[in-house]
Amino acid sequence: MGSLEETMAWNNRQYVLGIDIGGTHIRLGMVTPDQELHHFVVEETQTLYGRAGRSPLERLIELVRAYTARVDGKLLAVSMGFPSMVSKDKQVVYSSPNLSAFDNVNVVAPFERELGVPVFIDNDVNFLLLYEIVQRRLFNAGVVLGFYIGTGFGNAIFVEDRFLSGKHGAAAELGHIPVWNRTETCGCGNRGCIELYASGKRLQELRAQHFPDDEIQEVFVKHRNTVVIQEFLHALAIPIATEINILDPDHVIIGGGVVLMEQFPRADLERYVLQHTRRPYPANGLSFTYAEMNQKAGVLGAAYHAYRQLQNHRKEQMGSRPLS
Ligand SMILES: [Zn+2]
Repeated sequence: MGSLEETMAWNNRQYVLGIDIGGTHIRLGMVTPDQELHHFVVEETQTLYGRAGRSPLERLIELVRAYTARVDGKLLAVSMGFPSMVSKDKQVVYSSPNLSAFDNVNVVAPFERELGVPVFIDNDVNFLLLYEIVQRRLFNAGVVLGFYIGTGFGNAIFVEDRFLSGKHGAAAELGHIPVWNRTETCGCGNRGCIELYASGKRLQELRAQHFPDDEIQEVFVKHRNTVVIQEFLHALAIPIATEINILDPDHVIIGGGVVLMEQFPRADLERYVLQHTRRPYPANGLSFTYAEMNQKAGVLGAAYHAYRQLQNHRKEQMGSRPLS
């Protein structure tokens, strides 16, 4: 947390609390209306578990209460990204391969009851992409696709200034498109999902199998030109090229822990994607942008989302006011 002076200087300032909840870490930060981040902290997700008589949701609310109690500003809203499928009405966490404690939990209602401010949740990948969209001023920029290769394979689709959500909120589960004739079981319960072959989890398996003496961080530095790694890159390219062929995007943003590793062979990945992309379009003019290496992006993206929602809400209220 910040120094005493910083805390005192905070008096009466307004902020949104942005939270990025991952399988291993929870990141929190306060974001002011001018998009400045303060009091960024990282907690272990483990702190949510193993407290007798307290559910992980109750622990999370306690964590947020303890955090906001340390600052004397005015809390406008709380906005949380989960590594999860989130309901279309953005109230319920449906399913999280790496955070099952929140599955089928309505997170928003108890949070709003406890804190008395609007609470927003969404898939964390949407917030990561929103961060890039704000940084790069990509509003009104057509179709923006985000591909995030971390432990799994995350995807976000931003079309006409909103995230594609689908009938239930389950759109953009690109990691779970099926691969013909494969039978291994995915974390989602289905068989042969592309994420089994195109993800950080897969890279760990390849390291253990083929490069057992090397750390994961050395895999691309030492082995990027091996058949094993080139095939892995080719597997990553399949879902990316698939979605590009379907949506003919204006912008493609690639990120996630795997892509941000030292000497990740971007040119090879791009070559494989182009190899499977339809010509003349969308192949011609296709360009790739890489997400910033910024562990605060999820918190900032969550807060940006809350400010957008609050602004839309204000616009709606003004729009519905009868003319006098
Ligand atoms: Zn799956």
